[in-house]
Amino acid sequence: MQIARTIAEMKTFRMKSLGSVGFVPTMGYLHDGHLALVKQARAENSVVVASIFVNPTQFGPTEDFKTYPRDTERDLAMLRKERTDIVFMPTAEEMYPEGFNSWVEVEKVTDRLEGSYRPGHFKGVATVVVKLFNIVEPTRAYLGQKDAQQALVIKKMVADLNMNLEIIVAPTVRESDGLAMSSRNVYLKPQERQAATVLFKALTLARNLRGKGESNTETIRQEMTSLISKEPLAKIEYVSIADAETMEELTEIDKPVLASLAVRIGKTRLIDNVLVSG
Ligand code: AMP
Repeated sequence: MQIARTIAEMKTFRMKSLGSVGFVPTMGYLHDGHLALVKQARAENSVVVASIFVNPTQFGPTEDFKTYPRDTERDLAMLRKERTDIVFMPTAEEMYPEGFNSWVEVEKVTDRLEGSYRPGHFKGVATVVVKLFNIVEPTRAYLGQKDAQQALVIKKMVADLNMNLEIIVAPTVRESDGLAMSSRNVYLKPQERQAATVLFKALTLARNLRGKGESNTETIRQEMTSLISKEPLAKIEYVSIADAETMEELTEIDKPVLASLAVRIGKTRLIDNVLVSG
């Protein structure tokens, strides 16, 4: 496994790569959700590149950039085990040198949900992802359904800007009690970890209500909200039933939709989603 710490090194490794390149961008502190993406990239490509970069521009001023969990040695051991060929791990100064002044903004699909609760977040995401794609030049990039709106934003950007790669979105990997794996789960104290199961319980409730024939989204949102409100450590930011392609909120379910939510458990902000059939 080769490690590139500079953009120049990464480009040199890329130039020497033969065949298809599968790319998994991450912010590190890896878990089985990340590794599922690496495994899929390994199965479908000649060369596998992963990046570890906690991107400062996608964090708001009051968010957890400074405290975001980091453990490079552990991450590298995990990536080596999955037969990753190249790890790109630049510094913030390497990615955003003095005078950096170009940004990518995807409109509309970024207006709601994560976009409205985290102003500027998707501008930071889109910009760093374009930079990473330009540096790594992947054939395919692997993203998680866990961050469904992010995956949509990146797909839209790649289509709108005619970028030359395929975006593959892989299912969310969960703990045995349903909690979606996330680097931020490490913040949860034992009692909070237990409370955090309420996210997947609420999403499962949405699926079950739809399964019983409920198509009114207001009813489903209310039931989900009421379930989460019973958990004293949980504070809802949003509960959404939206068009899975546009993220527009729906009143009736007449096609497959995305049920998603953001909930604070203590100080930790968690997001999750499931697709609900039409
Ligand atoms: P992050 O390191 O949180 O920026 O995530 C890097 C990539 O891994 C993103 O495409 C995420 O959507 C994906 N990812 C994070 N958690 C999971 C999970 N539990 N299951 C599947 N993919 C995930």
